[in-house]
Amino acid sequence: MHRPGPPVNGMAMPERYDIMIIGTGAGGGTLARTLAPSGKRILLLERGNFLPREMANWDPGQVFVDGTYISPDTWYDSAGTAFQPQVHYFVGGATKLYGAALYRLRPEDFGEIQHADGLSPAWPVSYDDFEPWYTRAEWLYEVHGAHGEDPTEGHWSRQYPWPAVSHEPRIQKISDALAEGGYHPFHAPCGILLDEENRPPSDCIRCAWCDGYPCLVHAKADAEVISIRPVLEQPNVTLLVDAEVTRLRTNPAGTAVTGAEVTRGGQSEVYEADMIVVAAGAANTARILLRSASDQHPDGLANGSGQVGRNYMFHNSRAVVALGKEPNETVFQKTLGLNDFYLAGNGQRWPLGNIQMLGKSNGMAIKGEEPKLTRLAPRWSLDEVARHAVDFWLTTEDVPKPDNRVTVDHDGHIHLAYQGTNDSEADGLYRELKKVLNHVGMAEHHVLDKNFYMKMDIPLAGVAHQAGTCRFGTDPASSVLDPQCKAHELDNLYVADTSFFPSIGAVNPALTVMANAIRVGEHLLERMR
Ligand SMILES: Cc1cc2nc3c(=O)[nH]c(=O)nc-3n(C[C@H](O)[C@H](O)[C@H](O)COP(=O)(O)OP(=O)(O)OC[C@H]3O[C@@H](n4cnc5c(N)ncnc54)[C@H](O)[C@@H]3O)c2cc1C
Repeated sequence: MHRPGPPVNGMAMPERYDIMIIGTGAGGGTLARTLAPSGKRILLLERGNFLPREMANWDPGQVFVDGTYISPDTWYDSAGTAFQPQVHYFVGGATKLYGAALYRLRPEDFGEIQHADGLSPAWPVSYDDFEPWYTRAEWLYEVHGAHGEDPTEGHWSRQYPWPAVSHEPRIQKISDALAEGGYHPFHAPCGILLDEENRPPSDCIRCAWCDGYPCLVHAKADAEVISIRPVLEQPNVTLLVDAEVTRLRTNPAGTAVTGAEVTRGGQSEVYEADMIVVAAGAANTARILLRSASDQHPDGLANGSGQVGRNYMFHNSRAVVALGKEPNETVFQKTLGLNDFYLAGNGQRWPLGNIQMLGKSNGMAIKGEEPKLTRLAPRWSLDEVARHAVDFWLTTEDVPKPDNRVTVDHDGHIHLAYQGTNDSEADGLYRELKKVLNHVGMAEHHVLDKNFYMKMDIPLAGVAHQAGTCRFGTDPASSVLDPQCKAHELDNLYVADTSFFPSIGAVNPALTVMANAIRVGEHLLERMR
């Protein structure tokens, strides 16, 4: 077999591995970190390479206008029109660019929730089942926060490892005004390597380049920094980069996966392992399974239910900027959250979702987000707008719909059919935010839509929070994975990225993926013992 190059960490390559993990993001990376101490021979296959550490990491022009860290790929919408998805194929996956807002789902999210546009189905496990894994993920990813402040949160067995990141004066003022107005603001959970008392190691310099930027000083708790780099020195871990898995192979009976077909350095290779975990992100995981169709699995691997690729979700989100008369000199803005509208009740018919802060606007980022609107605006005027901006991120749950789905064509390209849900709830959350602003001295008519994250004028391309496509459940007729995230139809195939979500809740998904990856990892260790 031709080998285009050695693994990046120079480890010897056995003919067969105990475990193969496809993808090194929030799911795959965390799983690798969980499994590595066992000594099992682990092969990590990552389509991307290491994200370079360079000044461009913190250059809003490069990041937002030029899209330097958006990986080239072409997907197609339901009309067959090509588009560039906002994907990040790197060691660490999407977490290299993420905002590291590491929220738990609410206990109610694990049960059925009725929404304006349909039912958010129950998970096959409860919040209580998940709680220990959330705690482990919070400690692994160095989360700063204050359990006990947010009245909607579930029980917690251990406080966060770090105190909440302190509010800067403008955000503290907003928080105080909200509390006086009868709301329940809380310190948002953040995964950053910051010690506000500056005890070493305290790499974070508390800059504005966290949300949507790679961290030049590696002080963001992303999957590369926290999970992959620490295990690369271990002789039992092999990482291959630029290694795109195209297809999985099974034994003749189709009951177990034997290996993966990989394209690396323009060459085709095959790697074999006893256990296979796919964690390539919701769309790419569905793509790999659908492309692995065979005589035994004619509609795609693990797809007897026809559910692979279906129920794609990505949150009904809105980024808005409130312009205040008072300048906002905040640098690290993502310290505040508000869940007062998360659940239905108190006169509110539907659950509306979560309000949190975004990374602070700057003139160049506004130009990147609104290229048409700002074409003639001089840079100084955009900087001035940004100086008065307070940036909010509103998240409403998107309910799963079978026709919102990933399919692949003959050439293996992803086609994404998607109709958003719960617009009326998202509008309701927006109205509530405007009322909130009146309490904090910002006029409600000074609110602008902001396209950050949603990636300019193609909402479909904003795939940052993609989830669903291989949901877990107890019934093989309506789910792809069992409650341990093993494919119902195969003995040794697991999925450990956002694909497993039967519903997505209305908070950021990464902590749930990380917690689940630890859960799946412990299950695998138990099974292999
Ligand atoms: C700009 C931005 C901001 C975000 N902010 C937040 C936030 O603040 N909080 C939060 O909770 N979430 C946030 N998210 C979302 C979060 O990053 C994702 O939910 C999370 O990373 C998903 O984990 P995953 O394991 O499913 O996929 P990923 O982390 O994307 O990992 C998938 C990996 O698989 C690799 N891969 C894909 N196809 C193949 C293949 N065929 N072969 C081999 N490898 C493959 C990819 O290169 C990638 O490394 C943000 C995302 C973005 C883009």
